[in-house]
Amino acid sequence: MRSFGRIASLAVATGVLALCVAAKPAVTGRIGKRPFGKTTGGQETFLYTLKNKNGIEAQITNYGGTVVTLKVPDRKGQLADVVLGYDNLEGYETGTSYFGALIGRYANRIANGKFTLDGRIYTLAQNNGPNSLHGGNIGFNKAVWDAKEIPSNEGQALELRYLSKDGEEGYPGNLSVRVVYTLTDRNELKIEYNATTDKPTVVNLTNHSYFNLAGAGSGDIIGHILTIFADSFTPVNAVLIPTGEFRSVAGTPLDFRQPMAIGARINDDYEQLKLGKGYDFNWVLARSAKKGPSPAARVYEPNSGRVLEVWTDQPGIQFYSGNFLDGTARGKDGKTYRMRSGLCLETQHYPDSPNQPTFPTTVLNPGQRYQTTTVYKFSTK
Ligand code: BGC
Repeated sequence: MRSFGRIASLAVATGVLALCVAAKPAVTGRIGKRPFGKTTGGQETFLYTLKNKNGIEAQITNYGGTVVTLKVPDRKGQLADVVLGYDNLEGYETGTSYFGALIGRYANRIANGKFTLDGRIYTLAQNNGPNSLHGGNIGFNKAVWDAKEIPSNEGQALELRYLSKDGEEGYPGNLSVRVVYTLTDRNELKIEYNATTDKPTVVNLTNHSYFNLAGAGSGDIIGHILTIFADSFTPVNAVLIPTGEFRSVAGTPLDFRQPMAIGARINDDYEQLKLGKGYDFNWVLARSAKKGPSPAARVYEPNSGRVLEVWTDQPGIQFYSGNFLDGTARGKDGKTYRMRSGLCLETQHYPDSPNQPTFPTTVLNPGQRYQTTTVYKFSTK
């Protein structure tokens, strides 16, 4: 029995080895790199093109660590760019919608632009009504990151680094941030976030891609079918700050435990939907206690057949249905993006955690490492 086990495990090990060799990326060429223009401050930026062996392509700029294009196949194999964005750097420098960008130091809202840490009050920019949103006036989405290709046996990988200085946007501590985007041969865009600090601080990083699985600029996302693996959400007040309550999704238009068209209940007479002008809430993921990424959400676009699965190890996900898009921004290929023409699924800690004692902590201390992974996985049905 035991020797059979040994042979079996040898066979398994050999199989695994063979798989590892077979799994070597077929795309061996280096990540493409071309100039993306100089910022108004005179910094050079670049556009990097990652490809996988199935023809999927992601373009990422080191300005804001932004995903500029993401081309994935439909059920007939036709590629379309499924993320909203701009044609050029100027669009990203002047834009206010955070298309595709890395968000930090604190994604989402902090009430009244203030929090207390170790007895000290820290004051942040109030750039969203009374609140601080997405890191303040010049968040990580407006920073120029250091970028380089790094080796990976999963596909092409781009490493981005940024040092957020002590006091930047009011946050304490020098925060050294490293984000790795990997376009895997399993048709995933994997995002690994890492950060360390030299003083206690708060951290909440995410990516702010707006997806439209029918193709960016092709209409709204009302017909996309969404599943969110969450039993509860954190209701908000009039300025979208959590009240501290955890509310069951049961019997509310926020119940996406079964696949449901985004538009099916978006105009329901439900107080929270009125406050958010549609969906703009944090869902408490059912996976919270588990280790490693697990499914958080799934989106299916019936016409193209494209499916997006979001996997994360984070406790929450902000589903934002693009309610504040108003058709004024000129996007890629001259297309404009009207209300609800893209949706965001931002994996993160809950909004305003630094002021909410019952929420999981977002404090990072010296000697600790902030480390999280989110995967956007594409397929068709
Ligand atoms: C927020 C929205 C906000 C948007 C900005 C989202 O993460 O939840 O309220 O308007 O970012 O583009």
